Amino acid sequence: METSMITELKSVRDIWKKMPSERHARIFLEEMIWPSGRHCPHCGSLSSTPIRGRTARPGLYQCAERECCLQFTVTTKTPMHATKLDLRIWIAAIFLMLTSSKGISSVVMARILGVNQKTAWKLGHAIRELMDEREAVSARLAGVVEVDEAYVGGAPKFKKGVKNKRGRGTGKPMVLVAADRTGQAKATLIPNAKGATLGPIMKEWIDPSSALMTDSNTAYRKIGRSFASHHTVNHGKRQHSRPSKGAHINTVEAVNSQVQRALIGVYHRLGRQHLQRYLDEILWQWNHRQQEVKIRNRKTSSGTKTIATRVWKPIPVVDQMRGLLCCAVGRQLRRTPQWGLCWPIHLFEHKGTFA
Ligand SMILES: [Zn+2]
Repeated sequence: METSMITELKSVRDIWKKMPSERHARIFLEEMIWPSGRHCPHCGSLSSTPIRGRTARPGLYQCAERECCLQFTVTTKTPMHATKLDLRIWIAAIFLMLTSSKGISSVVMARILGVNQKTAWKLGHAIRELMDEREAVSARLAGVVEVDEAYVGGAPKFKKGVKNKRGRGTGKPMVLVAADRTGQAKATLIPNAKGATLGPIMKEWIDPSSALMTDSNTAYRKIGRSFASHHTVNHGKRQHSRPSKGAHINTVEAVNSQVQRALIGVYHRLGRQHLQRYLDEILWQWNHRQQEVKIRNRKTSSGTKTIATRVWKPIPVVDQMRGLLCCAVGRQLRRTPQWGLCWPIHLFEHKGTFA
C-alpha cells in the first residue's frame, strides 16, 4: 500500500515511529514473510484476493485455488498464528533478540515491551524456533571446517594444561559444534561423543570436499576419512596450532565459548528441547555477521602507520528479520497441555534423540 519499505530499525521506539499503527506492522510483515509475493499457507497458491468489508479481520485474504478456498493472513501457520498481541510487539521482540548479543531474558523483555513475563517467555521461544537453521541443507559448511564437542556448563576442556574428563559420568548435556572459517557454524545437542553419533551429523553438515580439523578424540578418526583431509590438533601436548598447516580449532572453540557464556546460569534450569532453542539463538547470531574493515592510524616513532583490521559485525537488523521471517510459514506453535507450547514434529530430527 502507501507505506514505503522500511529498511532500517534503530530502536524499539523507532518501530513505533515507523509503524504508527498495527496496519503498518502488518504491511511490514507481509513484505518480510512473502518476499516473492503473497501465497496461501494452506496450499501454496500464489493467487488470492483480499477480503474487504467491515466485519473482515484486517489483512485477511482468500485463496483463489478451487480445491482450497481457505482464508488466511500473513501470520497464519507461523509462530504468530492467531496472536492476540499487537504485531509491533512481535517485531519489537524480534528486534530485541536479534540485537542482544548475549541473549535477553524474558524478565527484561517483559519490562521493555510492557507484557507479562509468561508472554515474553513464549515470544522468546517462538522467535527462537525461527532461528532453527538445521534444515537449511544448502548451507553446508565447506573449506576448512573445525569440529569440537563440549559439555554445556562444563569447565573448559583445557585449562592450564589440565584435561577435564570427557566421556561418561558428568550427566551434563553435550554439544557438537562445527565451524568453517568464513563465519558459518552449526551446533546441536548430542547424547554422547561416540563416532556413531557424530558421524551422521557431521556428514550432513559438512561438504565432503572439506579439510576437517578436530582434536585427537579417537571418535573422529574414522569419520575423518569421509572428508578430503583430516588434521588433528593435540591440546594435551600443547600444540594449540600448527600454523604451517593451518591446523587449529580456534574458530570452533570461539563458538563454543560463546555457547558456554550465553548458557551460564540457564542450562540447568532448561529441558533439553529448550536448550536446543537457545543453541539456535546463539548460532543465529554467529552466522549473521559480516566482516568489516576497520582503518586505524597508529603513531609510531617513525611517523603514523595505517593499520587495517577486519572485525565481525552483526548484519543490519532488518536484513536479519527478512532472513528470519521468510521461512516463518509452517513453523506454527501449538498449545499442548504438557508443554504449553508445541512445535511441528518434523523439526525434531536431532532433538528427537532426547524425547
Ligand atoms: Zn490455498
